Amino acid sequence: MSDLAALYSEIEQKTSTFCTTYSIACAQGCGTCCEHFMPDITASEARLVGAYLLFIKKDFSLIEKVRQSIGNQEGPCPLYRFDSPFHCSVYPARPLICRLFGACAYQGKNGFAVFRRCKYNEEKTMPEHIDFHSEVPVMQDYSYLLRSLDDQEGEVGFLPEKVASMLDQLQFLAVMLDMDDTNPDDTPNPMAS
Ligand code: SF4
Ligand code: SF4
Repeated sequence: MSDLAALYSEIEQKTSTFCTTYSIACAQGCGTCCEHFMPDITASEARLVGAYLLFIKKDFSLIEKVRQSIGNQEGPCPLYRFDSPFHCSVYPARPLICRLFGACAYQGKNGFAVFRRCKYNEEKTMPEHIDFHSEVPVMQDYSYLLRSLDDQEGEVGFLPEKVASMLDQLQFLAVMLDMDDTNPDDTPNPMAS
């Protein structure tokens, strides 16, 4: 988990410099990508999102919404807030793809990095196309790095399935440790019997 935090921190710094250097910005208040997308995430990422929902936000209706989204592969992401300009309910714990989408380059077919404007960016707040011949943050490189530090050989799955499975594990542990405020339905503590 500390490797994951270090990777996210590196991405934050690299994408911020990249976006400033190449005048890349999302439109104010935009979150359209999250409405049409379901992130693919690793087990470590799911653990972080699950722990954030359970121990920081303690939002059981949102947890239920994640569980009810199992099987939805198209979006909207269950963690997307339509009623807030900040949109993402788990912003500090959001997965890698959400940190990189629209804010980094891709590996082009010729082996060089390329940036293409997000297709939902009708306001044209970012350049349409840039070819690079210098080193810039590339989506695929971070994707490989993410998978290399995960268990289960970095296997990815859709966010609702991955997070729901991790929530089951975290809630079980919380009950074992008698953290009662993470137990909305008052399931008896197995240690107490
Ligand atoms: S990546 Fe595109 S759709 Fe997503 S917030 Fe930025 S401009 Fe909007
Ligand atoms: S986790 Fe947050 S940023 Fe990622 S798709 Fe869902 S709402 Fe959007």
